Amino acid sequence: MFQIRLKQQAATDLAALRARLQVWAEERGWTTVGSKENNQLLYMQGVTSADELQMLNSWDGVEIVVPENAPATAAVEQLPKSVQVGSASFGEGAASFIAGPCSVENYDSLLEIAQHLVAAGATALRAGAFKPRTSPYSFQGLGVPGLEILSAVSKETGLPIVTEVLDLRDLEDVAQHADVLQVGSRNMANSPLLKEIGSAGLPVLLKRGMSATLDEFLFAAEYVALGNAPSVMLCERGLRHFDPSVRNVLDLSAVPALKQLSGLPVIVDPSHGTGRADLVPDMLLAAAAAGADGFLVEVHSNPSAAWSDADQALPLSSFCDIVPRVAKVLTACDRELRVVQSPRTKV
Ligand code: PEP
Ligand code: MN
Repeated sequence: MFQIRLKQQAATDLAALRARLQVWAEERGWTTVGSKENNQLLYMQGVTSADELQMLNSWDGVEIVVPENAPATAAVEQLPKSVQVGSASFGEGAASFIAGPCSVENYDSLLEIAQHLVAAGATALRAGAFKPRTSPYSFQGLGVPGLEILSAVSKETGLPIVTEVLDLRDLEDVAQHADVLQVGSRNMANSPLLKEIGSAGLPVLLKRGMSATLDEFLFAAEYVALGNAPSVMLCERGLRHFDPSVRNVLDLSAVPALKQLSGLPVIVDPSHGTGRADLVPDMLLAAAAAGADGFLVEVHSNPSAAWSDADQALPLSSFCDIVPRVAKVLTACDRELRVVQSPRTKV
């Protein structure tokens, strides 16, 4: 059996495409054994050759054909194994730091942090303008003004921006300012958002759900890939568990496992993965040894005053200290830390 996924299109075009497909299938003795998602996903049975499936793949209106015995994440398989964003490079021997405060607070503090990050060796700036918070009374992010601050700081420092799309209704706004779109842990299973986010044409940083299995995580990546994202990076950010001494348990075994299963770049976030600034540096070293292709770290110029996730924010000095140590571990593992080549202003 094989699956044929048809592109989203007007009902009349879909019906016409299905009719053409039916004729083609009957000529080959194939039968349709089922369909789903309003006839956009078809299941067929019959004897096929790789050439025929290839041909079908190039049909107008056909998104992808997944043959029998193909991996369940066939679209993920097509994605690039390394991702470049500005000076940052993730995968195939290169690793880079994505860092910044949990939330955008104001222009001056973000600029100060970003300038230190560039000097310390970070190649991408991450901060949230739309924040997923447990309590509706906690700071929810500055919204669009926060995105504008991110853009302004990016222009000033040359750092590309990674920031979260919390709600599909914000996708257009976020995509206007971001270089990489983040999907947070709480949205990993939000399939409508996953399918749509690729339409912005930007790389996607997909965080693992806090209780998601690796299979569920990879299926989420498959949704993003089917939405036509140019690239996807997977982010391990810790799993929910029983021990209140750490916020989450950082699953470092997921790093080589995900790389084996998908080949996609794997980023490790020890900030949310532990919830404790004192544990972050050692977990970064461990992540580098485990094969991480990038690191996502929360850093603040005055951690105790951070508007969100204060307990896990590294002070700027600790970030400066840990970067060269991570670089040494990477070198020992025949990989390389990418840093900004020459600090410059973005044009
Ligand atoms: C974040 O990265 O800002 C965040 C809220 O993390 P997570 O989605 O992993 O909880
Ligand atoms: Mn945070």
